[in-house]
Amino acid sequence: MVEKVAQHTHCQICGKAIPIAETLCSEECKQRYQTMVKKRKMLVYIMYGLIAFILVLFLFGSI
Ligand SMILES: [Zn+2]
Repeated sequence: MVEKVAQHTHCQICGKAIPIAETLCSEECKQRYQTMVKKRKMLVYIMYGLIAFILVLFLFGSI
């Protein structure tokens, strides 16, 4: 039998059930989330840097 539960969502960090208006369950998870976002942004910048570098190499290599 499936019990009817009030509308809820899950914490994006630990997966705990939380009210639908929230995205994260606690301060700790909020901090972890922020760190994750920062790391992801850094990775994106590094990727762009690498792509630009490879493009430059390719352009100069083909002249
Ligand atoms: Zn959490």
